[in-house]
Amino acid sequence: MNQTSKIINQAKKEGRKALLEPEAKMICMEYGILVTKFKVALNEKEAAKHADEIGYPVVLKIVSPDIIHKSDAGGVIVNLKNPAEVTNAYKKIIENVKKYNAKAKIVGVLVQEMAPQSTEVIVGAIKDPQFGQAIMFGLGGIFVEIFKDVNFRIAPLTLDDAKEMITELKAYPLLKGFRNTPPADIDALISILCNTSRLVMDNQEIKELDLNPIMAYQKGAKTVDARIILE
Ligand code: ADP
Ligand code: MG
Repeated sequence: MNQTSKIINQAKKEGRKALLEPEAKMICMEYGILVTKFKVALNEKEAAKHADEIGYPVVLKIVSPDIIHKSDAGGVIVNLKNPAEVTNAYKKIIENVKKYNAKAKIVGVLVQEMAPQSTEVIVGAIKDPQFGQAIMFGLGGIFVEIFKDVNFRIAPLTLDDAKEMITELKAYPLLKGFRNTPPADIDALISILCNTSRLVMDNQEIKELDLNPIMAYQKGAKTVDARIILE
């Protein structure tokens, strides 16, 4: 059995609908979607050790089946530059999360590579009862939240579908490069869309998938957060 089925079966066995970020990222990796390097720490000392291995700066994030939106819970701290900052952030995250939800089960803290800031894009998938898996693409932040500038296609996607989802966005000129914004690697984004399509077509028990955000670079793109919800 592949890694993806193992992770999904384990979650089902434990009665969890939401996969943990490291689980969702392992699934992404199996489908060729590049994610930030990560390692789960169970205490502050381990967090600092992982950070040394990964290389600074790092980001720390809560790993809890009860916390779906990690920043809402004070569960994400970015740009940590040395071991002292990492150990402090570890304590702070545990404290924040306990304050946010005293009953939340804490699995650990995810230490991960900090991806350089860039144009943020979003890839999503949602299973429609009638049409099956549908894939979504948009730019992050205000473009999604205020302008609703997103495109949907029913999976499986062809290369042309994926390309159109990108080029038909109102904000596409931004991805092509505009004033201070360098052009994004469109082929890398097309490949993420096609791999996501494959991922959800192979695993029909996935109800929702969210890669939000993905940093789009001039060369390549990196997923910094992944969420998967099962049926
Ligand atoms: P959530 O969506 O659950 O609140 P995220 O993992 O998306 O948590 O983190 C919140 C924000 O922190 C992201 O939108 C992104 O701007 C930033 N961030 C998170 N992880 C990284 C990372 N590895 N590198 C750079 N920025 C990150
Ligand atoms: Mg996110």
